[in-house]
Amino acid sequence: MEASTLSNGNISPLEVAIQQVDIAAEMLNLESGICEILKKPKRSLIVAIPIRRDNGEINVFTGVRVQHSDVRGPYKGGIRYHPDVTLEEITALAMWMTWKCAVAEIPYGGAKGGVRCNPKELSIGELERLTRRYTTMILNIIGPYQDVPAPDVYTDAQTMAWIMDTYSQFKGYMVPEIVTGKPLHLEGSEGREAATARGLTYCIDEAAKHLGMQLKGATVVVQGFGKVGWNAARFVHNQGCKIIALSDSKGGIYNPKGINPVKVNEHKKRTNSVMNYKGCKNITNEELLETECEILIPAAFENQITKENAGNINTCLLAEGANGPTTPEASRILTEKGIFMIPDILANSGGVTVSYFEWVQNLHREHWTKEEVHRKLKYKMVKAFKDVFNAMKEHETDMRTAALMLGVGRVAKAIRSLGLWP
Ligand code: NAD
Repeated sequence: MEASTLSNGNISPLEVAIQQVDIAAEMLNLESGICEILKKPKRSLIVAIPIRRDNGEINVFTGVRVQHSDVRGPYKGGIRYHPDVTLEEITALAMWMTWKCAVAEIPYGGAKGGVRCNPKELSIGELERLTRRYTTMILNIIGPYQDVPAPDVYTDAQTMAWIMDTYSQFKGYMVPEIVTGKPLHLEGSEGREAATARGLTYCIDEAAKHLGMQLKGATVVVQGFGKVGWNAARFVHNQGCKIIALSDSKGGIYNPKGINPVKVNEHKKRTNSVMNYKGCKNITNEELLETECEILIPAAFENQITKENAGNINTCLLAEGANGPTTPEASRILTEKGIFMIPDILANSGGVTVSYFEWVQNLHREHWTKEEVHRKLKYKMVKAFKDVFNAMKEHETDMRTAALMLGVGRVAKAIRSLGLWP
């Protein structure tokens, strides 16, 4: 699979991911052979998923599962339902999962899956049939010790319950450890749904200490109002930050006096969008990203901060809830501007960390308390932040390059020790 340039002139997420390996490889003086292994997924599966629509018609959707690396443990990564899903995009996301698990020191490799569809146009019954058929078509390459899926964009605990049930029907017994992010009453973990956002706020706390930034009253902008964006918004709001702009796929809202995310969430439930919220000005997602603030949290998609808009980003701290929101060129521009970045593979690793906790609980048939999950998550996040921060100091580089060096370096070390078979 070769990376390509997008029609809008931006580089694709896969090209971003490959460039990042080159950046880390150069800093680490990595052997070219190992570098070549790291740039390619070990396995990619494309499936054609036929489902019967509610009106009786048959539609065929394209699904993929990409397994990038398993040298540090079973493949792990979410499943995304979105009209823009491509093999390239999912391959980039699988690579980032590999580095993320290594940075977080979780014994997993990296994978990602997706189905090219518009879930907003599918009924609940159609989504269930799509999920079950997709699961059966990737059944041979997933498993509790092989590849453990999780939720991502436009998939949730219900999607995971269907995957668990489909897999278990084939096995003949319930296998909760096949997926993470399940409902609480089906062996899900306490704290999983908001874990990515909670981990992000632990990182923001650490970064604020380093920057001497007061969180109380700090202005915050959040792009995306889903599992990551909404929870991040309510957590930082609870810490006393002032949220001045929020957005979802339809657009954004701005109010310099501050926005209560809980009230906006109620508004979104009623109207299907954050837009037109009382007292706020409607803005575009492009305007939102360029809004002056102290903390900017992209929590939607890849390629949001590019060389085109990086110069106009006006923040002190960039905390990446989304995967791949910033291209390497943009990252260089932000570094030159003195913006402190908590890169995606560190900032949003709380999700996979609690997924790992869920898997461990399932394998041991245990259920940890919320307090235990939060405590363990905080320990892992603060440790990962400090590891990246210390690497940044040691190598006199930026946080993103330091995180990539840690992630890529740990995976390369595993490959070296395992050797090549035969
Ligand atoms: P989600 O489906 O719960 O929410 C996505 C949100 O993004 C929605 O509010 C949607 O309206 C909004 N959105 C869609 N298109 C947009 C656009 N063009 N501009 C602005 N907003 C837009 O998904 P999520 O789980 O919150 O994932 C968001 C990001 O976080 C993704 O990059 C995902 O890979 C990453 N991530 C998620 C997790 C997790 O545990 N869910 C973990 C790590 C990383």
